[in-house]
Amino acid sequence: MPQTKCPICGGIVELPDDVMAGEIIEHECGVSLEVVIDNNTIKLKPYEGVGEDWGE
Ligand SMILES: [Zn+2]
Repeated sequence: MPQTKCPICGGIVELPDDVMAGEIIEHECGVSLEVVIDNNTIKLKPYEGVGEDWGE
């Protein structure tokens, strides 16, 4: 299972094996994180919850 760090709290975030860019992951610290895949590296950025303005 891939893991990466939460940019907010620095804790480990476990990701599904089939994680895709644009997916929203909820972390245990309470933040929603958007998955960004850059050069096969999985990154997370805080998701601001803009409502209908996301979607891949
Ligand atoms: Zn966190």
